[in-house]
Amino acid sequence: MLLRAVIQNLAQGVVALVWMAGLRRLAAALAAPAWSDLLRRAVLLPPLLLAWRLAGLPTLPERLSVFRADEWAVLVGEGGVATAVVAAALLGGTVLLFLFQEVVPALRSRMRPQPATESADDRLDAALARVLAAFRAAGWTLPRGRLPRIFRLEVDDRVSALHGFAENRIVLSRGLLDQLDDQELDGAVAHELAHHARGGNLRLFGVWLARCLQAFNPAVLALFREFVEAEEAACDAVAARVLDRPAALASAILKAHGTPAPAPADATPWRRARAEVVRRANAAATRDRVERLLKPSRPWAAPPLFVTGASLLLALLLWSLG
Ligand SMILES: [Zn+2]
Repeated sequence: MLLRAVIQNLAQGVVALVWMAGLRRLAAALAAPAWSDLLRRAVLLPPLLLAWRLAGLPTLPERLSVFRADEWAVLVGEGGVATAVVAAALLGGTVLLFLFQEVVPALRSRMRPQPATESADDRLDAALARVLAAFRAAGWTLPRGRLPRIFRLEVDDRVSALHGFAENRIVLSRGLLDQLDDQELDGAVAHELAHHARGGNLRLFGVWLARCLQAFNPAVLALFREFVEAEEAACDAVAARVLDRPAALASAILKAHGTPAPAPADATPWRRARAEVVRRANAAATRDRVERLLKPSRPWAAPPLFVTGASLLLALLLWSLG
């Protein structure tokens, strides 16, 4: 039963990844928020379809099925020790990657001895008021009771983030605030407000949970990584659209992420090497974000029927992999 579910999930992950890779050719014509929505559904669909099957809801008749997870489960079961070792190495390796890249850093940051203090700041309050007015003028409805508040984080690092689940808080560090002029500040605040408008951390946590359930699946790992980047691009696109000042947002992104701090001089060679890899990866991601803002090639809104149709088609495809 468990083996069958794992095999079905692996097949669905691979098909979703290949299908999204094919769709990426069309993605140049697709708006950034729509692309992120499609990737989110590709991560959510496999566990939802498993719940569908466990609930006894209709599945494809066996004679029509192109992929039979139950037959593969029997084959793997009969494969002996060698098959078991290869399967355990592939799935276990992916789980280890998930633990060390995502769970351990998250736990470490939670266990920091002294969390930085947060203070109210008049300049931040004024920026949030301006950005909220721009969102409303652009026709966004942000529920009043759940509007985020904004705070200054008392650290020298350059940080900008949306914190909290039920009640969202936008936090900008003193180190970043000192670097930004008012237009750049509005851009940074609008990006965080776009996260809030698109469901905030609660929705991201839901996707992360779906990804946790599939921690053994390398295809879902790739889809989730792409989703995280796409969500950043989507929030950049929303912020640039609402404020109509993409260059100011691009400049704020460069100031926040453009020159990451080097590893401390007394760091071990392993830590220095790791810091260098992270620095290069971040530099590439920052360059992509800035380029997308300054040379926008995508339209703002995707045709709604295209996104709904593509999602339904993917759901049908994955559902047929019984
Ligand atoms: Zn962001």
